[in-house]
Amino acid sequence: LMNFPYGHILVLGLAKSGTAAARLLLQSGRNVRVNDKNTTPDDKVVRELEAMGAEVITGSHPLSVLKDVDVIVKNPGIPYDMPLLQKAQSLDIPIITEIELAGYLSDTSIIGITGSNGKTTTTTLTTEMLQKSDQAVKIAGNIGFVATEVAQSLTQDEKMVLELSSFQLLGVKTFKPKIAVLLNIFQAHLDYHKTFENYKNAKCNIFANQTADDYLIYNADNLIVAEAVISASSTKVPFSLKKRLENGAWADDTSIYFKNEKMIDKQDIVLAGDHNLENILAAISAAKLSGAGNQAIYNVLSTFAGVKHRLQFVENINDRLFYNDSKATNMLATQKALTSFQQPVILIAGGLDRGNDFAALKPYLENVKGMVLIGETQDKLRRVALEAGIPGINTADSMADAVKQAYNLSQSNDVILLSPACASWDQYQTFEERGDMFIQAVHTLL
Ligand code: ADP
Repeated sequence: LMNFPYGHILVLGLAKSGTAAARLLLQSGRNVRVNDKNTTPDDKVVRELEAMGAEVITGSHPLSVLKDVDVIVKNPGIPYDMPLLQKAQSLDIPIITEIELAGYLSDTSIIGITGSNGKTTTTTLTTEMLQKSDQAVKIAGNIGFVATEVAQSLTQDEKMVLELSSFQLLGVKTFKPKIAVLLNIFQAHLDYHKTFENYKNAKCNIFANQTADDYLIYNADNLIVAEAVISASSTKVPFSLKKRLENGAWADDTSIYFKNEKMIDKQDIVLAGDHNLENILAAISAAKLSGAGNQAIYNVLSTFAGVKHRLQFVENINDRLFYNDSKATNMLATQKALTSFQQPVILIAGGLDRGNDFAALKPYLENVKGMVLIGETQDKLRRVALEAGIPGINTADSMADAVKQAYNLSQSNDVILLSPACASWDQYQTFEERGDMFIQAVHTLL
């Protein structure tokens, strides 16, 4: 952290990333104060940080914690409109997130990936393509590994593929990835960012500090993105599903290309869905620019079954293709899943009742020839299924039963899809548990 220009630091929020940031700053000889509104944070962590020399203040956010502070390292989840941060802003104290610190640790080896949707899939694909190419690489960020910890552990020549949320990017001043990926920008998280402009600007922080030596891979089909990157100084590498590109990744009806090289036939790709084709184009671009091999890229795309619970291919049983999309906790995600298949679908759906009718699903049910309804929303979904004229409509009390019934409704070459369009909390602790139950039930059919 030699070049990090601050001596007195306030770390706000004692979660995993805050703890890691405090440790790192203390190790580098900085003066560190830690503040968390929780009255009973992890005692062991508090004692450890105090033993390292930190001043730890818990239970509230008194304005006095700002005294002598040069910079604040903020947990990405803490909103900027809380009084302490308003005060800090009025005093011109810079507010950063730990991503900025990670940038000071490793400025040449970062592949940063952001977007409203597709981050985890693209981050995972890119990492696997580099690993298969025998490159030393670590995955980090929003995907679940603290960026500063991973950045500290990098060996020479090792790269870090970093999934970045808009919350993390908002606190960026000098950070720049060597390769940035901007997948898409949709209306999202407006509760936190207040305006769409703020949200867009946060996403654009991924390339704000890039120069012509750095690459910006972006979605040329997303109008908001295409317009936002005009001002970038980076070397731009667009990708598109709609047009042939000389300088980036693109697709025609049958194949995927990077510049003038064919990478793979679409029919050899395991991942379903046009939205995943976008993620694939982005991952290929990042991997190729990092020196990945074509064979490695092909091997990943012809085997990678998807991130768990996100339209994840589970199994082919007697020519029925089972997909687990338990992460689809709202209608938009289920609509996306349903547009991913051309062949007939048996849909398992339903869950926590949030009070919406499901009319918005109806136009997407054309390919659906059977539905198995689970959870609290059975009656509402049945009404929509009837209106859509779906021939087979069953209900089930358990996932095992739902999978069996779906199988009974199916024929060769059908897709059997769990994409609930609802949260899981009426029957399960988490959407992960729901997806695991589905996978288990599918495997008992074998
Ligand atoms: P994130 O990490 O950004 O939440 P994921 O890769 O976990 O994204 O995908 C979550 C869901 O977002 C998917 O199940 C799908 O419904 C949707 N999605 C994924 N990629 C895209 C994309 N490129 N464009 C639009 N929607 C997408």
